Amino acid sequence: MAKTLPERFNPDLMARDGTRYEAMVPIREFERLRTILASNDGEVRATAVFSRRKDHIVVGGRIHVAWPLECQRCLEPMTVAIDEPYEFVFVESERAARVLPEALDPVVLDENGQIRVVDLLEDELILHVPAIPKHDDLAECTDAERSFGEVEAESTGDGEGRRNPFDVLKNLNLH
Ligand SMILES: [Zn+2]
Repeated sequence: MAKTLPERFNPDLMARDGTRYEAMVPIREFERLRTILASNDGEVRATAVFSRRKDHIVVGGRIHVAWPLECQRCLEPMTVAIDEPYEFVFVESERAARVLPEALDPVVLDENGQIRVVDLLEDELILHVPAIPKHDDLAECTDAERSFGEVEAESTGDGEGRRNPFDVLKNLNLH
């Protein structure tokens, strides 16, 4: 049986008995992550096993989540399921992080030697959000007619990342 990983924890204490931990964190608690998703519904599940390796404590496990996204072809909601391994090494400072071998992925603890689950996982989670999510198959796009009208999508979009490529030309000084 996995124990529940506390919201904030001290890895040193976790590494003592080799217990398998599990964390369930609502997506809305990840402040940066939630801004790149289509909704804040759902939660991240992570497993975590702590161990000692030389001078460091290492945590490894898997993250499971279904991202609520918007298909960039048909603009309908879609989910992308993620099941990915992760591994981090805890360090006490940014300086300690810089001298680690490159193969190790550091996370910096706070002044009390603790870290929040949210801070442990957020960067890694962001890496696993597809930049341009699309239904795998064109047939899955529920309203195929809308794929005609990407122009329409641009006019209703929020402007970010959907600029008309010809705008660039307008700004060029063509002599
Ligand atoms: Zn689609």
